[in-house]
Amino acid sequence: DGTGSITAREVDSFIHHHAPLCMRNLHDSLRADKHLKHGGRLQYGLFLKGIGLSVEEALIFWRQAFANITDDKFQKEYAYNIRYNYGLEGKRVNFKPYSCAKIITSNPPSTGENHGCPFRHFSAGNLEARLRRDNINGAHVDEILELVRNKHYQLACTKHFEVTHPQNKEKIDNIEHPNAYYELSKRLAET
Ligand code: SF4
Repeated sequence: DGTGSITAREVDSFIHHHAPLCMRNLHDSLRADKHLKHGGRLQYGLFLKGIGLSVEEALIFWRQAFANITDDKFQKEYAYNIRYNYGLEGKRVNFKPYSCAKIITSNPPSTGENHGCPFRHFSAGNLEARLRRDNINGAHVDEILELVRNKHYQLACTKHFEVTHPQNKEKIDNIEHPNAYYELSKRLAET
């Protein structure tokens, strides 16, 4: 992977332009609440690691994002877990970013939590509102919602990729991993 290739300062823009809806949802919640619960920190933190945020930049990113807490609280309650995700503490496992299958089938978010897959875990009403807020046209929203109704969550995400990347002319593989969605989007922007 491209560890070290993005900085804390670049996260907003890269997420806005290239991340799948699950990660944009986590990022927006983080910016709105200046906090994310454990499941969200894990899902988003490992994704960010996967797109090339080094542990040093991750510590800067999360410290700035959790703007309402003291340095002391940040160091005690959060810094260890960030280093842990990078394999620098505890069992020293180099944890991998979660796949769609894992996000969709395990640990559903409860009230106040923002992890998970919007295509799987949002209510139909919330998903529709989010897609419309992102200016996706009505016909495309209907197509995505139809796939979701039939429980084809990853196909819905693949369709979402297609309609938000109209410059892409090729048939793309089904989205299996949030980091694959991101890399595909980024590659398209570079060509
Ligand atoms: Fe994220 Fe995968 Fe769901 Fe798409 S299908 S929103 S990449 S978990």
